[in-house]
Amino acid sequence: METGVVRASLPPIVPDEKGMQAAVDDIVARVREYLPAADPAAIQRAYDLGRERHGAQQRSSGEPYMVHPIAVAQIIVQMRLDVPSILAAFLHDCVEDTGTSVEEIRAGFGEDVAFLVDGVTKLSKVEYTSREARQAENFRKMLVAMARDIRVLLLKLADRLHNARTLEHLPEDRRQRIARETLDVYAPLANRLGIDWMKGELEDLSFRWLYPEEWAALAAKIQKSRKERDRFIQEMTRTISEMLHAHEFKVVVSGRHKRLFSIREKMHRQHIEFEQVHDLIGFRVICDTVAECYAILGVIHSQWTPVPGRFKDHIGIPKQNGYQSLHTTVVGPRGVLMEIQIRTHEMHQIAEEGIAAHWMYKEGGGLAPGGKDAERFRWLHQIWELQQDVRDPGELLDAVKSDLFSDEVYVFTPAGQVQVFPNGATPVDFAYAIHTDIGHHCSGARVNGAMVPLRYRLRSGDTVEILTSPQQRPNKDWLDFVASSRARTKIRSYLHAEQRKRSQELGREILEKEFRKSGVSLAKAEKHGDLERAAQDHRCGSVEEMIAAVGYGKLDPKEVVQWVAGTPGASEPPAELRESKLAQLIRRVAGREQQAIKIDSVDDLLVRLARCCNPVPGDDVVGFVSRGRGLMVHRRGCPRTLELDPERRIDVTWDAKAKLDRPVTLRITTAHRPGILAAISQVFSDHDVNITQVHAKTTSPDEAVTAFTFNVGGVDKLRTLTRALEKLSGVTSVVRV
Ligand code: MN
Repeated sequence: METGVVRASLPPIVPDEKGMQAAVDDIVARVREYLPAADPAAIQRAYDLGRERHGAQQRSSGEPYMVHPIAVAQIIVQMRLDVPSILAAFLHDCVEDTGTSVEEIRAGFGEDVAFLVDGVTKLSKVEYTSREARQAENFRKMLVAMARDIRVLLLKLADRLHNARTLEHLPEDRRQRIARETLDVYAPLANRLGIDWMKGELEDLSFRWLYPEEWAALAAKIQKSRKERDRFIQEMTRTISEMLHAHEFKVVVSGRHKRLFSIREKMHRQHIEFEQVHDLIGFRVICDTVAECYAILGVIHSQWTPVPGRFKDHIGIPKQNGYQSLHTTVVGPRGVLMEIQIRTHEMHQIAEEGIAAHWMYKEGGGLAPGGKDAERFRWLHQIWELQQDVRDPGELLDAVKSDLFSDEVYVFTPAGQVQVFPNGATPVDFAYAIHTDIGHHCSGARVNGAMVPLRYRLRSGDTVEILTSPQQRPNKDWLDFVASSRARTKIRSYLHAEQRKRSQELGREILEKEFRKSGVSLAKAEKHGDLERAAQDHRCGSVEEMIAAVGYGKLDPKEVVQWVAGTPGASEPPAELRESKLAQLIRRVAGREQQAIKIDSVDDLLVRLARCCNPVPGDDVVGFVSRGRGLMVHRRGCPRTLELDPERRIDVTWDAKAKLDRPVTLRITTAHRPGILAAISQVFSDHDVNITQVHAKTTSPDEAVTAFTFNVGGVDKLRTLTRALEKLSGVTSVVRV
């Protein structure tokens, strides 16, 4: 939580034409130090366009507006980013504030610069309103997800840093809002990206304006003892240098005061007064190699007593954001506690510049303009590789990577609340996230003010407004495009309830007919409690459940009538008639009257897949209406079907969209040979198939028969798998059981 290495700060900008041009010339000179091939003319052109467009606009400070883009470009140069980032810095407020089009920037400066300016413009439109911590985290993630290119984020951070530096000129309410947002969102973001100096400065600036009194009190206390500490720092820096040089280490030693905000955090965290904060001073030793870091630690510990529990090896175990250093606290001269950090030059650069440092190391001067994403993020991949052999491969990189290739979208409610969804989410997901009823009645949506279809894929930054209609009902098709499990579950349970309702209606209709035929009144039976007793006797929880069971085809209506009438063996209509009627009913319940019944779900209580032949989606199948058990689906050619009444046959097909994992058993005959089972299970795992059961059925001295049971979603997959198994040497036959 500290910084202090003096960064090569760029000169203040004199707010007139000459002063601004001088700052631009200075930027050009500095860029060419680390990017010798950079084109000065392009930088000048970007500045000129910005200058012309912002014209007479002014900052709140009264300075020409262009001072701000120049200052942002200076910060970008401090981070040593590439030329497109610098050009974008000069132009970053043109689209938002001067009506310059992205196309114009593209025509003048190329795709890369236009992309960056567009990205920063979009981020600027997003406003942080909530103070809730979770929301802040979401907001940060959203910014990262929206940025897509890390340079957009770095530009946004540079923009924010300059705005935070000039907060004094703003009216109080805007100042509070920006300071809050900076502390909640941007400082943690800088930390996440490992840019320590920027994080520290953003925190201190926010602290100053959010808690002015606390800030002033703390600043005064620090100021009072500052001279004394300055002297001590000077003295100790010399002592440590001399000591290490005597051991022939080539080191750079520096001392620093801790930052105000980090002192405040420590006081709040440990509930202590300023006077109790001992380590107000820190020293840093920078050397050449990792081995030297540990050797230097030894020298320091032999000179001064280390404070127990304060040594931290962030070299062996880097921090989440990639930070590496050795930390120790020792009891120095006059009993003063001194924190000392030891690191190599490379670690130091990464500690200060974070992501930007990795970039420079890996790309040697920035990214190729117009590069594809893979190209653009090659550096990220390389750090990833770099860290593979480290024990705790920087979680930051993992996090940044997953954020950049985000699996989530962040969208807004019309009130500005952030909502998070899995990638691919639609307005229907959004509607269900607000309220189940809004989901059920969601009839349309407006995204960023324009009407979109329900299956529109939301994008990060979208503002979504849901339209509802009382007539609207969840639709089975919705299951095809919703992405959140919440929406999926709600739609399913609605459809289930609907099916149940329909079954009850249908069940009642069937029962009424049956009762009428037998001359018994259903209403009377219900009134006299006969139905209730019948329900109990048929192990149905209630009359309604029994009626539903009739509707589902699980319970024969005749049985109910006979039970109530007490006339077993009453006249039955001919079998064909009975069955074909049942078939009709099933079609009606399934709501698919005209065509062949489509099998699309095992949840469908009307449809059962026969155990004898175990049909798999894609198999050629036939359905048979079975009394009391709905529709039984067999594979065509299953021996059982030959015994069944052809009158009961119904055409069935598989729904192409069906996702049914069905258990299948393959009997594999193999030569008796070591390693053959391993080879077989390899084939299964190559096909992403999990074996659930293995049975060695029979064995002979030179042959083994093994049955593998597993789940498979379709006959095509089963076929490929079978073929692959047959190709294995040593396998003599593969038979589906
Ligand atoms: Mn700006």
